[in-house]
Amino acid sequence: MHNAKAYSAASANDPLAPDTIQRRDTTDRDVRIEILFCGICHSDLHTARDEWSSIMPTTYPCVPGHEIVGRVVEVGSAVTTFKEGDLAGVGCLVDSDHACDACDHGVEQFCPDATFTYNWPDKHLGGVTYGGYSESIVVDESFVLRLPANLDPAGAAPLLCAGITTYSPIRRWGDIKGKKVGVVGLGGLGHMGVKFARAFGARVVVCTTSPSKKEDALRLGAHEVILSTDAEEMQEHAGTFDFILDTISADHDINAYINMLGLDGNITLVGAPEKPLPVSAFALLFGRKSVSGSLIGGIAETQEMLDFCGEHDITSDVEVIPIQKINEAYERMLKSDVKYRFSIDMASLKAG
Ligand SMILES: [Zn+2]
Ligand SMILES: [Zn+2]
Repeated sequence: MHNAKAYSAASANDPLAPDTIQRRDTTDRDVRIEILFCGICHSDLHTARDEWSSIMPTTYPCVPGHEIVGRVVEVGSAVTTFKEGDLAGVGCLVDSDHACDACDHGVEQFCPDATFTYNWPDKHLGGVTYGGYSESIVVDESFVLRLPANLDPAGAAPLLCAGITTYSPIRRWGDIKGKKVGVVGLGGLGHMGVKFARAFGARVVVCTTSPSKKEDALRLGAHEVILSTDAEEMQEHAGTFDFILDTISADHDINAYINMLGLDGNITLVGAPEKPLPVSAFALLFGRKSVSGSLIGGIAETQEMLDFCGEHDITSDVEVIPIQKINEAYERMLKSDVKYRFSIDMASLKAG
């Protein structure tokens, strides 16, 4: 085993602080990665503070981080797809059983025996897995992604969660070229949804509660912006959308968006509001509309997304911070005071 510097939460009430964790020695199939950047996802904060205790309680110490970009520094003897010096990415998953229906269909995120990148039983060392707020990580080769060399590594890190979370449902919907696509919410997820929908040739409309985000939405690729607080403006778009990506994780009126869908329109949720959302059956019946959910993506699809980003030069808009500012970043994230994702420069971990 190796010691690795990290930042961890010691309890739900403690701020994140410097710590030392253990990483396993590389097995034949493992890749050891020196982490360069790690994005900050809302899930990191929820987990560090044990806010999802009813579904997946947090085991402490907790080292969050599942938007990892780094450089390969060691590979096991059976590893064929990576060599020392390669740029690599790791997202929300680090292992699965490689044997079930979900794995066979390339949706390892739904494998009953999937191992998530942090706060999940660690099959190698016992205890729980530790994420990317750390100087290094050791991962099975089949869960390591290739990172296109032209992408800025700081901006590429959030692709591993925010990117695939929005790319996957857009791809799954089908060919959105020329279709009217709504993106509800313009945060870490929403801004990626806008970039992808635009790159796939859709007519992109952002729905936001903040008038101040209008210019940014247009700059990011939206053709139009609707203020969701303006009922009249919302009504003008009734029945006109083919697909809506709903990225809001707070309570909101989903029926207002269902109302904007046209025949066979679909709204897909990628945010997770704490309370159930009341859905009007009538709003769905008239127009044969549907509501779906989506959770990250499988490994092959994540690679496809990264390759697509390489071809189209897509990264997340990031504010790069040193790890020492992590607690401040959490507070700012709660106030949506970030455009649009924090990316931690892991070189700062060496400093202290
Ligand atoms: Zn995430
Ligand atoms: Zn499986």
